[in-house]
Amino acid sequence: LFVDEPLREGAQLRIEGAPAHYLRTVMRVGDGDPVKLFDDRSGEWLAIGAAAGKRDLLLTVSDHLRPRETVPDFWLLPAPLKRGRIDLVFEKACELGVARIQPVVTRRTVIDKFKADRLRSAAIEAAEQCDRTSLPELAEPVALDALLDGWPADRALFFADEQGGVPIAQAVRAHGGPAALLIGPEGGFEDGERERIRATAGAVAVSLGPRILRAETAAIAATAVWMSVNGD
Ligand code: SAM
Repeated sequence: LFVDEPLREGAQLRIEGAPAHYLRTVMRVGDGDPVKLFDDRSGEWLAIGAAAGKRDLLLTVSDHLRPRETVPDFWLLPAPLKRGRIDLVFEKACELGVARIQPVVTRRTVIDKFKADRLRSAAIEAAEQCDRTSLPELAEPVALDALLDGWPADRALFFADEQGGVPIAQAVRAHGGPAALLIGPEGGFEDGERERIRATAGAVAVSLGPRILRAETAAIAATAVWMSVNGD
């Protein structure tokens, strides 16, 4: 369970609302039962449960189990997509171990409202599910031009392009170290954007095969390839 406050031995936390319902009713946590917590600062802790009232749960933090993990230095840069599809990208990117998710607004991006809170919840639930002890950094959306203007020279930039590019596994093997991957929106990148991206510090177009994948499929598949090569 993610707790948004620093954890330390002996701390007592009252868990309310949906998390308490999940722990008490679904997971059947009762008096004396163990619960694992993480705070995205100090790592993972063991806590002992005690029912508090009808619905809440009192947790007393006991042992430090694991330090906060370091994940591979990989940023996912997806264009915002419609609800459901972008939630899926955040969820799976978190499970796969990305360090940062930076939404990027391109010319064909059609989403005008970006629900950061909902997407943060999707990432938190994914982290809890897969036993991450750190959350990915979730950045505010940025325009493609602004992103490219400030691009750090020491980070490899890939962009997934359905019009073709280096096969992704090959590109990833050739670039160890800090990396980032741009994924276009439902309508893809415009030609002018492709040129602008290519002109940015050695950006490499990568291909995920001959079919045009849905944007969320491309984001998840490409991240999985990167993690399978460089993710240890
Ligand atoms: N219209 C569909 C949708 O609504 O999702 C397909 C969108 S596809 C043009 C969106 C993005 O996925 C592209 O800009 C590209 O970044 C990535 N993509 C899709 N298929 C790909 C492929 N075969 N190779 C590389 N990238 C791909």
